[in-house]
Amino acid sequence: MSDGPTYGFDTLQIHAGARPDPATGARQTPIYQTTAYVFRDADHAAALFNLQEVGFIYSRLTNPTVAVLQERIATLEGGVGAVCCSSGHAAQIMALFPLMGPGCNVVASTRLYGGTVTQFSQTIKRFGWSAKFVDTDDLDAVKDVIDENTRAVFCESIANPGGYVTDIRALADVADAAGIPLIVDNTSATPYLCRPIEQGATLVVHSTTKYLTGNGTVTGGCIVDSGKFDWSANDKFPSLSEPEAAYHGLKFHETFGPLAFTFHGIAIGLRDLGMTMNPQAAHYTLLGIETLSLRMERHVENAQKIAAWLEADDRVDYVTYAGLPSSPYHDRVQAQYKKGAGALFTFAVKGGYDACVKLVNSLEIFSHVANLGDARSLIIHSASTTHRQLTPEQQEAAGAGPNVVRVSIGIEDADDLIADLDQALAKASA
Ligand SMILES: *Cc1c(COP(=O)(O)O)cnc(C)c1O
Repeated sequence: MSDGPTYGFDTLQIHAGARPDPATGARQTPIYQTTAYVFRDADHAAALFNLQEVGFIYSRLTNPTVAVLQERIATLEGGVGAVCCSSGHAAQIMALFPLMGPGCNVVASTRLYGGTVTQFSQTIKRFGWSAKFVDTDDLDAVKDVIDENTRAVFCESIANPGGYVTDIRALADVADAAGIPLIVDNTSATPYLCRPIEQGATLVVHSTTKYLTGNGTVTGGCIVDSGKFDWSANDKFPSLSEPEAAYHGLKFHETFGPLAFTFHGIAIGLRDLGMTMNPQAAHYTLLGIETLSLRMERHVENAQKIAAWLEADDRVDYVTYAGLPSSPYHDRVQAQYKKGAGALFTFAVKGGYDACVKLVNSLEIFSHVANLGDARSLIIHSASTTHRQLTPEQQEAAGAGPNVVRVSIGIEDADDLIADLDQALAKASA
């Protein structure tokens, strides 16, 4: 699409980044199942390798199908650029990589996807990085925990597993005052429900595996850059502000301005870490995004109905859905998540661990899987699966205690989903 009028979300989710294929006129973005691209001549090759000209060299760095997806997600998020990679977890490492170094830390919310808690509390230590976990609703605690070695604040917009919603604006102000970027994992909200960059976030990461693809077919990740952070304002981000030896002393921020982070992600991140998204995955995700707004509307409508039904049921102790008037986050949803609180929430079953296991075993439409954001309704008992590696204290802090199940409400008929929960709760409480 040309730079013309600003189009609405429904238009952009279909058209942004795409144009008829220049070789064939194909209207749908073709899958460029291709590895390498011919240089016009030696000068062209040199210009590409020096980052003086943008173009395709080799699909570990850039691929035409993946490039369309990058532009589409960047547009939907209101960013200046995006880098896709092989999974959501790859995107998190790729987002931190230019910022961190040995001895540096990231301040992260206690309410995160279980895999992220493990990645941040265990695996990143191998790089000499660390994470400090804090309740991001307690802004004073966030301020206190940020130190001179902190290089980012990390949270989820609608947070796993409880569907808590984060006050991104307030957290962005704290990060700003400390001269560090706020990274928001927007997987559960998607840019349809929440646009973190508009609320002050510097970077947005996604597991495109979830709602963006929406049908449980491929894994993928993405990092979107707002283009707004001044990487040269202090000496904390030498990868972006200082000369890069691998490119003859080029300074990414000085050379690429607002696109510094995106260029670094491709030219250093993908080149050397190699966590590349494949073109097939990009294709499935592009197809998924075409219907994102329609699906998210139905996800939210169903979640709202089902959460209300569960809350009124005697066999259920409580429901954490932020879209319910009883939620402590209800006002925040009204103010900052106007299109709804997503479709991910937890509920506590009377009868604890054993009742949860029986419930999960008895459901027929809901699938028991470690995934979310599928067109299908999904359920998981976090304490015995995704959050199993965490200590009981970490489980409680993450809202994943033994009496709690997490649901990701799909886009089936809400009445069928309610009937399924009804019969399974009957068995669970028998
Ligand atoms: C699934 C998920 C991830 C990890 O993404 P993968 O694609 O599975 O690597 C990260 N954050 C959130 C919120 C997720 O739901």
